[in-house]
Amino acid sequence: DEQELKKVFIGAIDAGTTSSRFIIFDGTGNPVAQHQIEFKQKYPQSGWHEHDLKELIDTVRECVEKGTQAFIDDGHDASEIKCIGITNQRETTLVWDTETDEPLYPAIAWPDTRTKKLVRDLKAQKGAGDLQDLCGLPLSTYPSSVKLKWLLSNVDAVRKAYDEARLSFGTVDTWLIYQLNGGKQNNVFVTDATNASRTMFMNLHTLKYDEKLLRFFELDQKKIHLPEIVPSSSPDAFGTIASGLLKGTRITGCLGDQSAALVGQKGFTPGSAKNTYGTGCFLLYNVGEKPVISKHGLLATVAYHFGRDQKPTYALEGSIAVAGSGVKFLVNNFEFIESSHMISDLAATVDDNGGCVFVTAFSGLFAPYWIDDAKGTIFGITQHTEKGHIARATLEATCFQTKAILDAMEKDSSRALTELAVDGGMSNSDLCMQTQSNIIGIPVDRPAMRETTSLGAAIAAGFAIDIWKEFSELKEINQAGRKVFEPSITKEESAKMFKKWGRAVEMCRGWVA
Ligand code: ADP
Repeated sequence: DEQELKKVFIGAIDAGTTSSRFIIFDGTGNPVAQHQIEFKQKYPQSGWHEHDLKELIDTVRECVEKGTQAFIDDGHDASEIKCIGITNQRETTLVWDTETDEPLYPAIAWPDTRTKKLVRDLKAQKGAGDLQDLCGLPLSTYPSSVKLKWLLSNVDAVRKAYDEARLSFGTVDTWLIYQLNGGKQNNVFVTDATNASRTMFMNLHTLKYDEKLLRFFELDQKKIHLPEIVPSSSPDAFGTIASGLLKGTRITGCLGDQSAALVGQKGFTPGSAKNTYGTGCFLLYNVGEKPVISKHGLLATVAYHFGRDQKPTYALEGSIAVAGSGVKFLVNNFEFIESSHMISDLAATVDDNGGCVFVTAFSGLFAPYWIDDAKGTIFGITQHTEKGHIARATLEATCFQTKAILDAMEKDSSRALTELAVDGGMSNSDLCMQTQSNIIGIPVDRPAMRETTSLGAAIAAGFAIDIWKEFSELKEINQAGRKVFEPSITKEESAKMFKKWGRAVEMCRGWVA
């Protein structure tokens, strides 16, 4: 019962794109202690985006130590934390030396577009048209497969390690779990099905590596070590923390960040959807126990897989590369505001976008457009244009792409969404969420506690050790204080805005700088 659940604690590691954090939840879903550290974004060339592998694990370790210390300082004992869940940025591609555990190159982060040309070549290759039916993803710069292929073709140390059969590949979950378990000596080398479904190496139907996919990318499993694919919630697949305050604590849950947010929003029934406005923005729509391969520019992905004796649940996904990172761009590159949360105030200095449309295609355009060579473009600038207009247009860009994704989802699933659950950093902006509701014409529902990604990881971990046994037991979690934004403009006004956006997208193609 509730009193008992308040005395059970779960730690959630959230290794995001811009920061690492550790949040300790009690069994009623309340966060009781946390620590967060931003890490460095490296942009060594235009279109390149990297993270340092050591920094990824070091910031996670520091968050776990400091978050746990805050928990202890609050009068708790570390042993009250029963298990750990992990959630992470997806697709980001890591390689290290199997023999020494040393990184062989920085992590290539998911928005990185260095593979643009490679992708063009691969699309022309025989068999390219068959990939999406197997793995759910279209060929683009986004999945891990093309990033790994680039590494093998362009980095000598990686190629040499491959030739000598000492190349380990992993996504961020794999690297963190491996390191937290103490590395090579304990060799816990795994990935969960949601993370594996972003690589293009996994067969979406069998949840196993697929020879046909590996062959297309010219990978020989005798030369490259691929992590074992395991369910997202498991009492024994992810090992235990090897050192520090939580030494001996089991890791029992692992989900890619967008899957974790869906779980954290309790999107367990087919037809439910959530949209997470973080660095990028990702809409996941639960389609049930059979994958739906999109015909309209969406991705098919594993939503979650809660145990070997259970069927996986699948989702249709709309991925937007730039959301909160567009706000950060106005902060860092244009210095319009000092910090992201000030964007709402700046946008509120004007009544509308003043005729400006900002296609924030810094990494090309993802779903549902998939235009690799699109560049960021602002249309409609006049002498009248102020910072406030650009601020609005930046927020609107994510809202328009969400609308395009919902239209595609309706076509793929023959069902229209009636309400959208939201979370993530940018959902803190009331102005942005009101705009979103206006543009999609349905209510937008935001929880009071916005750390749904971490909560989802905690839920996956808790289920593995029977803190909860049925999804219905989660009913009350994070329900209090939700805010619903209702559409406040007419359908005609909204359609007019969206039409302009569509024209802007067509015009931002193919610019060669
Ligand atoms: P991630 O997990 O991808 O690192 P978060 O969910 O923490 O991302 O969201 C961070 C993003 O949200 C940043 O890019 C930031 O610009 C944006 N953000 C944070 N607060 C606000 C706000 N109040 N209004 C608009 N954007 C915000």
